[in-house]
Amino acid sequence: MTESADILVIGGGIAGLGVAAMLSGEARVIVLEAEPMPCFHSSGRSAAVYIKSYGPPGVRAATIAAEPFFLDPPEGFADAPLVKPRGLLFLDPEGGGLDALLAETPGLVRVTPEEAAERCPVLRTDRIVEAVWEEDAQDLDVDLITGGFRRMMRAGGGHLVTSARVETLRREGGLWIAETKAGAFAAPVLVNAAGAWASQVAAMAGAAPIRVQPKRRSAAVVPPPVGVDAKNWPLFTDAKETWYAKPSAGKLIVSPADAEPMEPCDAWPDDMVVAEGLHRFSEAVTFEVTRVERTWAGLRSFAPDGEPICGFDGRAEGFFWLAGQGGYGVQTAPALSALAAALISGAAPAIDPAPFAPARFG
Ligand SMILES: Cc1cc2nc3c(=O)[nH]c(=O)nc-3n(C[C@H](O)[C@H](O)[C@H](O)COP(=O)(O)OP(=O)(O)OC[C@H]3O[C@@H](n4cnc5c(N)ncnc54)[C@H](O)[C@@H]3O)c2cc1C
Repeated sequence: MTESADILVIGGGIAGLGVAAMLSGEARVIVLEAEPMPCFHSSGRSAAVYIKSYGPPGVRAATIAAEPFFLDPPEGFADAPLVKPRGLLFLDPEGGGLDALLAETPGLVRVTPEEAAERCPVLRTDRIVEAVWEEDAQDLDVDLITGGFRRMMRAGGGHLVTSARVETLRREGGLWIAETKAGAFAAPVLVNAAGAWASQVAAMAGAAPIRVQPKRRSAAVVPPPVGVDAKNWPLFTDAKETWYAKPSAGKLIVSPADAEPMEPCDAWPDDMVVAEGLHRFSEAVTFEVTRVERTWAGLRSFAPDGEPICGFDGRAEGFFWLAGQGGYGVQTAPALSALAAALISGAAPAIDPAPFAPARFG
């Protein structure tokens, strides 16, 4: 038996859940997720930060557009704040590496090495030539955000089917038919929110061959120095993004900021890459990392120009792209979900869709 809907969404990460939440209520939506649980891949592995200065121009516009949602989500979305102030220090050990950043983003300020160390006391001031402070960088509560999207989706009548990897796709009589081990599903509109697998899903549908490249990003949890309370430190990063660190639950998350191209997979960290990143981090701070408590990795998936892809495909009728969110898929989720929902339902979009149009790849 084939279950039918108005819209099928492939992928139960933050992208798929977000667009399903925004469309449910006005359309019958089914989200098909390959894994036994949602957010098993990238969406469950992020560093959970919101940074307005991060990414190419379209991403920055979507990040700014997402802020009102994070600060004031719809009634009943979550029972605690989605964001918490964190702040961000960019540290340049050479000088001259922060000029472009300052020129591109309003609201950033230069601080002296001593002012940087007041905010984060383990910094080696002799290793800082220039520093910049981004006051409104925030911590995001990803569980609350994805949980809120799921609740919103259910309230609108949408539902998630897990352990439902889409194995084949075909267009028949104006409908997409998706075959999974959990059954067959049909709808006139299909949303490709498959994260690292987006190009594979597009190939199954005969859609445009846009290369969405997954790149591994790893992270390690390390204890701060004994007796030191790190919880109010900001996020801090090397100006060239060769490592970054942020406090989390009394510990420090340190990422080697790796970006190793990979095939779509359940990503695992490379011990050597993590060790090299921790070494770069330790050159910037006054303490030694002697213990790593836990490591993980996930995939950040990029379109060729680094901007997300959000829009109907030019070749395959009813096939909608919501992919390539790179390292910004959480902080842009409310804005890109709303843009996707508007483009699918024919409503006026709140942000300019042009930077995200699949047609930009010809
Ligand atoms: C270490 C790390 C740190 C990050 N830090 C941040 C950050 O601080 N801030 C930020 O905004 N972003 C961050 N990101 C990026 C962010 O996590 C991603 O952009 C975002 O999670 C992408 O969401 P998604 O829903 O597109 O992908 P995913 O969460 O990967 O979801 C895609 C889903 O599609 C499913 N799927 C694939 N193929 C099929 C199929 N054939 N059938 C059914 N289901 C299928 C997969 O199982 C998967 O669950 C980080 C990422 C990593 C790895």
